[in-house]
This record gives sequence, structure tokens and C-alpha cells, in this order.
Amino acid sequence: MSQSSQFISTRGEAPQASFADVLLAGLAPDGGLYMPAAWPHFSAAEIAGFKGKRYQDVAFEILSRFVGDSFTPAELREDIEAAYAGFERPEIAPLSPMSGNRYLLELFHGPTFAFKDIALQILGRLFARALRQRGGKATIVAATSGDTGSAAIAALGGLPNIEVFVLHPKGRVSEVQRRQMTTSGHANVHNIALEGSFDDAQSIVKDLFAQKDFAREVGLTAVNSINFVRIAAQSVYYFTASAALERPATFIVPTGNFGDIFAGEAAERMGLVAKRLVIATNSNDIMARALNEGIYAAGETHHTISPSMDIQMASNFERALFEASGRDAGWTRLAMENFARDRRLDIPEPVLAQLRARYDARSTDDVDTLTTINAIAGTSGRIIDPHTAVAVNALRKLGFREEPMVVLSTAHPAKFADAVTRAIGTPPPMPEGLRRVLDLPEKLEIMPNKLSLIRQFISSRLAG
Ligand SMILES: *Cc1c(COP(=O)(O)O)cnc(C)c1O
Repeated sequence: MSQSSQFISTRGEAPQASFADVLLAGLAPDGGLYMPAAWPHFSAAEIAGFKGKRYQDVAFEILSRFVGDSFTPAELREDIEAAYAGFERPEIAPLSPMSGNRYLLELFHGPTFAFKDIALQILGRLFARALRQRGGKATIVAATSGDTGSAAIAALGGLPNIEVFVLHPKGRVSEVQRRQMTTSGHANVHNIALEGSFDDAQSIVKDLFAQKDFAREVGLTAVNSINFVRIAAQSVYYFTASAALERPATFIVPTGNFGDIFAGEAAERMGLVAKRLVIATNSNDIMARALNEGIYAAGETHHTISPSMDIQMASNFERALFEASGRDAGWTRLAMENFARDRRLDIPEPVLAQLRARYDARSTDDVDTLTTINAIAGTSGRIIDPHTAVAVNALRKLGFREEPMVVLSTAHPAKFADAVTRAIGTPPPMPEGLRRVLDLPEKLEIMPNKLSLIRQFISSRLAG
């Protein structure tokens, strides 16, 4: 069995797991995140050969290196084809020129109009398949800052033997985002509006996992970006974009939980050559401060107009720390335990140097986000969403660089119609798929930020 289809935990105290184990479990049993025991490798010629290939075929080549014998090649291919059949653009992730050497990598052409679909449409199908093959039931609990919830519901709603619980921070997601989650009509979907922040919701999910008896009893699973399968699926567009450009590019990535940008590091570790990976944050700038000052410290969450990035604890940063420490699981475990206790981690110099060799970071506040949306609309007529705008503003702050500059465009502007209207004075055009949710009846439960009550709610819905 190839080392890239065996998975280990960043905290070093979990047994090796297969791709299907990782898919179904999400979080490793020692509280760490799964990583391949070794990265698969693609040669420069193989990567260049991705140019002109169908997105689905590149996805197959990359994912098949991780799958091992968890699924047959035919099964993997079938699920990849089905995952992308509903996308609006045949390219799946089209690379759209802006001006000069600047490009937008459009990741929002899936059913819920944000980039989360690219990974979750595959994950949902593989998940249902693994469950059919192994038997049993799964309870998915997802914390969402807005887009993961709807993408998970679109991927998993209505499937047998799966119950989906989605916790979003009450009042902290856009109206369209909330309605996308609460209007699915599927009996297996349960929405909780939590009286707290995204980080509170994420903590509750982590704490539910820590209650081992409960987790085992209900078959608890995470489909948040801590699930490695999402990272693997997201690495694909770094390859397709780089192959299309035929030159090493700098990628500027709107960052919250560090999943999307870590997929870029994953691609690099698989052989992709990129110039820089640029972390673009809103005023929740924990990642920018970690890189620039060497102190990873969580503060209060700020409510911004790019709510999918209103995150203080970037879960996937643990993966980058693990790699930057030379895969030192003992150190990673201690570092994360200290961070959980103190909400602060001083990144040791050698680890920081490794991170800085790969990443840059820039943060952007709401005022500059609005100005950027307005400026791009003025010069090009293109309407971008606030998350994309945070990254475009980071690109402006970087100044001119020779190489292709690729901004990951993570959401359709109509998902954040209020912010876009503030920026340009008129609402963005609303695609039919989003307009639909505005008239459907909503179903959600408003709940206090209390672990025991959430647990009770889950148990009662599973019993009923
Ligand atoms: C989730 C999300 C992000 C942040 O991605 P991470 O993987 O959490 O860093 C950025 N933009 C949008 C629109 C998102 O939905």
C-alpha cells in the first residue's frame, strides 16, 4: 500500500488510517488532523500535461493517489463525474483574466455559489458510498461561518443513514447564506443558529468529538475543512491553474480556517511549483499576525462584511505547523495543547522561517473591501464578492510582481448582496438558483452557546 494512501495524525497518537477511515471520521481520535503518511509526487512533465485536460480527469489523477483500495478507480471516477455534473461552467474552475498578469480563479460555479462545493460535492458522494459499503449510520455535525453549511446540505441532504446538523453563528451570516441552509426541506437536515461566534460553534463541534462515548454512539463525523478529503479535492485547482498559465504563479487566497490556502501548500508538496501563497484576511487577522509577528494569538471575533472569514482559530494551521516543524508530531501536539489553554502560541524561529519561505500575509478592513469592490466594478465592470475583494486588495498591497498573480474568487457576489450594494450602489444580479431560496419557508432552531443543550438536541432528533 502506497504511503500517500495511509494517513497519520498531526498529533502522532492515532493509529494509521485508510482514505475511507479519514473520510468518515474527519478528526483523528487523538484530536489531531489527518495527513498522508507521505505526499504523492507529480513530475513537472505530469503537471504540464494537465493543461487542456478536463478538470474531472485532473481531479481523478490527484485523488486516486490518496484513495488506495478504499474505492475502485471506477467508483472514484463515477463520483467525480457526478460531483461536477451540476456546475454551471464546463471548466469547473475557470481562470478569468483581469488585467495584465492578474487573474481570477472562479471557484463559485457550483450549486451553492461558493468554493466549498468543489470539495463537498465529491466528499458527499464518496461518504455515502463508504457508508453503503460498510453499513452503519453517520451523524455529521458541522460548524459553519456560512458557506460550508449550505454546501454540506447540498451534498448530503436527503441521503439515507446520514443526519446533518449545522451550527451557524446567529445573525452573523448573510440572509442568502442563512436561507440556503434553512430552506432545503430535507428531513435529515437540522439547522442550529447558535448564540455565539463561529469559533464558539467550532469549539462545540470539537467538544462533541472529545466526548468519546457520545461520538461513537451516534457515529459523529466532521465534514469541515479539517477533513483531509476536502484539502485533497481543493488542491486540484492549483494544478489546473498553474498548468494553464505554464509558469509558476503567486496565489492570493481569502483565508478563514486556512483550508483553501493549505490546499495550495499540499499541491506544492506534491510537486507544484508556485512563487508565493498569500494569506488574505479581513480584520480577523490572526493568520496575518502569526506570519508577520510570529505570535499566533486568538482575540475577539470581529463581525465583518466577509463573514465566511470571521474566524479567530484557523483549524488547518495545525497542518502547516506540523509540516513546518519537519512533521514533529510531539511538538505539534504540545503547541496545540498550549494554544488551547492560553489562546496564544509563540512560533519558534525555525518553524516561522519555514512558514515565511512559503507564505505572505496581508489583511484588509471593511472600508478597503468596499472600496475595492467599487474600484473593480468601475474599471472593469466586474462585480466581485467581499471575500474575493479582500484578496484583490491584498494583491494591490503586494505591488507589482513579474509572475502571474492568481486571486482565488471564492463566492458569487449575489450571496453577499447587502455588502455589494453598499459598495456599488445597486444590488448584484441574482442567479435563479439563489433567488429561489428567498421565498421558501425556513426551518431552524435558535440555541444558546451551551454544549450540553446542543448534545441533547442532537440526541433527541436522532431518537425522533
Ligand atoms: C470558507 C470561505 C473562505 C475561507 O476559506 P478557508 O478554507 O476557511 O480558509 C473564503 N471565502 C469564502 C466565500 C468562503 O466560503
